[in-house]
Amino acid sequence: MSLTLAIPRSMYSEICRHLFSGDGDEHGAVIAAGSAQVDGDTRLLGRELILAQDGVDYVRGERGYRMLTADFVRDAAIHCRNAGLAYIAVHNHGGVDAVGFSRDDMASHERGYPALVAMMRGQPVVGLVMATAAAAGDVWQSDGRRAELNEVVVLGRPIQHLTPSPLLAKRNEPRYERQARLFGDVGQDILKSTHVGVIGAGGVGLLLIEYLSRLGVGRITTTDPDRLDPTNVPRMPGTTLKDAGVISLKGGWRPMVGRRSRQKAAMKVQVAKRLALEANPACDFRAIADDFLNPEVAREFLACDYLFLAADSMSARLLYNAITQQYLIPGAQIGSKIEVDKTTGRVLRAFSVVRPVSHDGGCLWCNGLIPPGRLQLEATPEDQRKAQRYVDDPSVAVPSVITLNAVGASLATNEFLFVVTGLAQPSRAAADYFRVDALKGEVYRDEPSSDLACPECGRGPDSRRAKGDGADLPTKEVGGRRASHRLRN
Ligand SMILES: [Zn+2]
Ligand SMILES: [Zn+2]
Repeated sequence: MSLTLAIPRSMYSEICRHLFSGDGDEHGAVIAAGSAQVDGDTRLLGRELILAQDGVDYVRGERGYRMLTADFVRDAAIHCRNAGLAYIAVHNHGGVDAVGFSRDDMASHERGYPALVAMMRGQPVVGLVMATAAAAGDVWQSDGRRAELNEVVVLGRPIQHLTPSPLLAKRNEPRYERQARLFGDVGQDILKSTHVGVIGAGGVGLLLIEYLSRLGVGRITTTDPDRLDPTNVPRMPGTTLKDAGVISLKGGWRPMVGRRSRQKAAMKVQVAKRLALEANPACDFRAIADDFLNPEVAREFLACDYLFLAADSMSARLLYNAITQQYLIPGAQIGSKIEVDKTTGRVLRAFSVVRPVSHDGGCLWCNGLIPPGRLQLEATPEDQRKAQRYVDDPSVAVPSVITLNAVGASLATNEFLFVVTGLAQPSRAAADYFRVDALKGEVYRDEPSSDLACPECGRGPDSRRAKGDGADLPTKEVGGRRASHRLRN
């Protein structure tokens, strides 16, 4: 069981400016955080930051050195409770990469926190102390349990792990020696302890799984309801025509016919699992041969540290966007698109796109990348769609080729690798969407727009951002209702 706090990079920068203002003194603040219980772990998700004003809210203490005033604590705790958020009181000590509570700190938690926990209606109360590159936390749960916070995860570029003392590298398998020369044994350890979700095990998803498993990612969860089809094999390395239910006969390959061929073809997730375990037998691989939109399936991805979307449907995009914002999970959506003029057959556009998840800017929803019209179309029964001959019918096969998929999958996994191992350098453009135009041979970075009023990623009181278990997800059952609600807005 682990206890973590994730905070967006912008919130972390603001905390640092306030706590480490250069005067060498102690300062205080409160983080209001959503919380989530997944896989037996508790994840706290930084949503709002309330700075304590020096000399007004944060004053010379009666027992310790400095303290938050009773008024400030009460107002902040009531605000958190009413918003259904955890209360996290933060202050700083000196030092760089190691930090811990003082005896006065612990005594003040023991005096004050039982009463705070009692008024919080189930939300935890946390004391957090930070040095410039370390953090330690004392978590008080409503059921009376008290535990140490394992780490603070700072999201963004790179992803930073703040622990009470520096992490020591374990010795890694010799076969990773070449890549560990790039990001160190600590980097290899991070990959081993990272849980990555890949939604969709098709042309893009299988490539992602191939790269992730070879890199030594310790835990991978994937979902896809489909069986392999012979038309998938040209885009999915490691798959065989036999996997696709086609058998070898004298004189060549021939598809098996009827029901028997469908039974013979392997599930895409099973093929993905086989390939991943061949590359790394120690990988904890979970293959879910089901639809991501099912609530139980969607829940399997809430525990992920990083989440890739490699499925085409708009309803999957809506749910993915909701999960990454609500549970503060970093990741990227990957796709490729080829547009052909239906009358002339001329190729109009051919590109790969990678859209990183941002927790400090816009999301797929406020950037218009989940068109309500398409959501509605997907919700229309197939026979109706056929009868009306929609142009964008999602059941019609679209052009696709392995190289365009590989460009996107490779860019996205490369970004994952550098961001999680800490090698990535801060860069404003990093939150931008990649677009590789294969016809023109050009690479673009499109800056996503950011809407403070966005119902998903926005700053308003009702936005989904960092709410954790405190909001519903747009899965299958509630999806239709939610989509129609959106259409009215
Ligand atoms: Zn202290
Ligand atoms: Zn948004």
